[in-house]
Amino acid sequence: MTTASVDVDTARADYAALVDRGLSLDITRGKPSPKQLDLANALLALPGDGTFKAEDGTDVRNYGGLKGLPELRRIFAGALQVPAEHLLAAGNSSLELMHDAVVHALLSKVPGAERRWADEPRVAFLAPVPGYDRHFALTERFGIELIPVPMTGEGPDMDVVERLVAEDAGIKGIWCVPKYSNPTGVTFSDDVVKRLASMTTAAPDFRIFWDNAYAVHHLTDDEPALADVLALSAEAGHADRPFVFGSTSKITYAGGGVGFFGASEANLAWWTGLIGKRTIGSDKVNQLRHALFLKDEDGVRAHMRKHAEIIGPKFEAVDRILTEELSDLASWTKPTGGYFVSLTVPEGTAKEVVRLAKEAGVALTPAGATHPHGDDPADAVIRIAPTFPELADVEEAVRALAVCVRLAAAQQSL
Ligand code: PMP
Repeated sequence: MTTASVDVDTARADYAALVDRGLSLDITRGKPSPKQLDLANALLALPGDGTFKAEDGTDVRNYGGLKGLPELRRIFAGALQVPAEHLLAAGNSSLELMHDAVVHALLSKVPGAERRWADEPRVAFLAPVPGYDRHFALTERFGIELIPVPMTGEGPDMDVVERLVAEDAGIKGIWCVPKYSNPTGVTFSDDVVKRLASMTTAAPDFRIFWDNAYAVHHLTDDEPALADVLALSAEAGHADRPFVFGSTSKITYAGGGVGFFGASEANLAWWTGLIGKRTIGSDKVNQLRHALFLKDEDGVRAHMRKHAEIIGPKFEAVDRILTEELSDLASWTKPTGGYFVSLTVPEGTAKEVVRLAKEAGVALTPAGATHPHGDDPADAVIRIAPTFPELADVEEAVRALAVCVRLAAAQQSL
């Protein structure tokens, strides 16, 4: 990317005009918009008066069922690439399951471990960057060291990953968003998945935290295939390596959906043994409601098309406006799915861009959030989340963002 010369006076005048407009816009978090949430409003009337039996006769009003309802697990087995019998439906979303997985691994030996992670002298995770701030915050909260690994257009840089995990037994895991990654939109290539599944790790209890949050969140008909991490790991003799996570948060209701956890037989036995101390069973009424609403895999697919119709134009607007305004100064991703665009501005200006935008009434995710400890060494990455605001607001916010990028670049070149 070039730091093309920017006329300082013009940039300042444009910015002053922007501030004068007194905007109040927010493109910080990847939340579904109210229109997207409306798509699932049939849920509000389900399962319906008198409907409380699951297909196996389970009374969903009562305690029990640590694995979740089979009919719902079947609906998501294909999308999450986990056989239904190895996929649990639990909780209201996936982040809590990732949190529990980390806590359980700290406190109770995962299959294959020599000791609990809490008893290890050091526990580290690989953090592909740019990545998801909540992953980083979760592991940081438990004192787990995060080692940044660069993302490429095909997933994490596997030369770096393989070298690090082979030599360092303290590295116990890697965060992965394998489909339409947050925030780059990258889908891991077959080669990357194969290498993750088969690489030699110094830690016998290494885990891939496979957060397939955007498994069905396509924006176009060009749906990239993702290699099957559980099958490939099993083939390579590492069946226990992946922990697969997913949820319906951005399919039905964010936070009012269902989470999923998929893994090997041994991992599931470990998990259910521990989770039984925490709950007598999850919310099966919500699971039944979801199964009745989504019906089957095709039902999910049809529903996701409606999401794409709503948010696709917002992503197109981001790309169009950035192309018009910033082609000479910045680069950005053009995701075909997921929830984010990753904008790379001239080095050393991202924080200033976010500050300028805030002053002008446009809230952006803090610069650095895409990196462990909020520290982007190049100070160059800004995550754009265009799903929540109305299209006109997305357009306005991105135009405003462009004004801020130009001013920050101009200031830097003074
Ligand atoms: N993983 C990723 C990669 C996400 O982007 C998000 C939401 N922004 C989540 C997990 C949160 O998912 P859930 O609602 O299922 O906890």
